[in-house]
Amino acid sequence: MTAPALLLTLAGLTAGLAYTLACWLAPFGPCARCKGTNRLCRRCDGTGRRVRAGRRLWTYLHRLHDQGTDPQRRHP
Ligand SMILES: [Zn+2]
Repeated sequence: MTAPALLLTLAGLTAGLAYTLACWLAPFGPCARCKGTNRLCRRCDGTGRRVRAGRRLWTYLHRLHDQGTDPQRRHP
């Protein structure tokens, strides 16, 4: 692997890790549409904060796992 490719890979991994950490520590991010300036914003209900996309993905996958491994449910 060449040096630029290695640097690019490391940068990507670092950015991914930083975003994962941000989603874990602060699941709410700023509202991209109004940035908290519009109290009538329908996207964030005027709070200026929204659930991060990565956190929504995590919730979806976690729920999918729970549904797939529910001991109460029988799988054919
Ligand atoms: Zn908003």
